[in-house]
Amino acid sequence: MNSELYSKLIFDYSKPGRCGVDLPEYHYPGVELSAELTRTAPAALPEVDEPTVVRHYTNSSNNNFGVDTGFYPLGSCTMKYNPKVNEAMVAASALANLHPRQPAASVQGALKVYRCLEKALSEIGGMAEFTLNPFAGAHGEYTGLMVIRRYFLDRGEETRTRVLVPDSAHGTNPASAAMAGFEIVEVGSLPDGTVDVADLAAKLDGTVAALMMTNPNTVGMFEKNIPEIARLVHEAGALLYYDGANLNPMLGVARPGDMGFDVMHINLHKTFSTPHGGGGPGAGPVGVRAGLEKFLPNPRVVELADGSLEVECTPDAFGRISSWLGNYTVFVKALAYILTLGPDGLAQVGPLATLNANYVMNALKDLYELPVPGPCKHEFVFDGLRDKSTGITTLNIAKCLLDYGFHAPTIYFPLLFHESLMIEPTETETPETLDAFIAAMREIALRAASDPDYVRNAPYKTPASHPDEDAAALEPVLTYKDLQSHE
Ligand SMILES: *Cc1c(COP(=O)(O)O)cnc(C)c1O
Repeated sequence: MNSELYSKLIFDYSKPGRCGVDLPEYHYPGVELSAELTRTAPAALPEVDEPTVVRHYTNSSNNNFGVDTGFYPLGSCTMKYNPKVNEAMVAASALANLHPRQPAASVQGALKVYRCLEKALSEIGGMAEFTLNPFAGAHGEYTGLMVIRRYFLDRGEETRTRVLVPDSAHGTNPASAAMAGFEIVEVGSLPDGTVDVADLAAKLDGTVAALMMTNPNTVGMFEKNIPEIARLVHEAGALLYYDGANLNPMLGVARPGDMGFDVMHINLHKTFSTPHGGGGPGAGPVGVRAGLEKFLPNPRVVELADGSLEVECTPDAFGRISSWLGNYTVFVKALAYILTLGPDGLAQVGPLATLNANYVMNALKDLYELPVPGPCKHEFVFDGLRDKSTGITTLNIAKCLLDYGFHAPTIYFPLLFHESLMIEPTETETPETLDAFIAAMREIALRAASDPDYVRNAPYKTPASHPDEDAAALEPVLTYKDLQSHE
């Protein structure tokens, strides 16, 4: 980057404009916004006094529920505690005030953090190389599939236009494959929730680019047939994609790369402790086995001969999927978490998460229907109450649980069962918390039989009880203006 442009981008507080930045100079040189895009009058921002603003945000935050307020067993989402030291790293260090346009020479430390995390994830995943660019798990899936597409185009195998997805998969899998231009073919599951290998084998041919798999799968079962599945997929000339959202129970114990996966993503906001929910910020780094590195998206952080780091774009990359290098603060937290735990600490995460999940599952399975008998890995799925005569649904149970001060589990996913109630306690919860949750779930189940109306009309203690969910989806109140028009 040339130093003349850089000097224009440094915040100059002596000049007028927002944050002291003279906005017109913020443009790329030679690029002018067209007249219909430029503002002609100042934005009509609401004018409010400071106490009103402070009360608004304080009261909003008191209505919020997070891992810091209570137990959050949201299956599939890995709502583990996020150590505060991670936040201190991001906030207090020199990393907080960087500008993405700074020349590489002035941000060597920040690039080193980036490169260290790429290497750590490569080691953890058993992959040759990682990119940190994608902003979320779904974005990582899309990125990985674009790498796969680019790989087959490079080999002149344009006939590979289909992606196989198990029926137990997270909805983002088929959505990402469709976004990447593939046709989706569903693969069935066996009664134990694992992939039906015979069905898979029948669907593999020269039109298939990849099979996407989650392991442990969304029912919390470890897919034991991965070596056989990898062999079948590779014999058909296709690639094996690992949805790493469920990496937590395997962390430091088993590696997707060793199982035969070719491309994978990791949800840093799940497995590597960044607060999430409500839409972010997250990161979905993508790893690839040797031979696929050059197709990873631009830009890349590369090591030069003199040991220094540079940000570069390469012609083989399938393209670009993010601004700058991705969600940098999430990387700092992930690296802080990895270095704090170390290899031994990381290897304890999965067994503890698995122990907690099995403890809760066994304490409730006499009252809740367990369609796939355990032992499970980090999470498990109930199919509603065992006593079907009460008429109490999974939605009723989830809402009733709010009065006990717990976040609800994931409901109606996976789609394999009608009344799915998916519970993931994570490794950071104490036996006391788990016991309190178990007691609440048991009380709800017993009350469903003795006083079903009570359960059906819960919750009673929350700011909203039974909002019109259709209206909330169709006419969401998202802005200050929407709120005013509703008052
Ligand atoms: C969370 C999740 C995803 C999607 O990740 P996002 O970061 O929410 O986009 C994909 N697959 C599985 C199994 C998940 O649990």
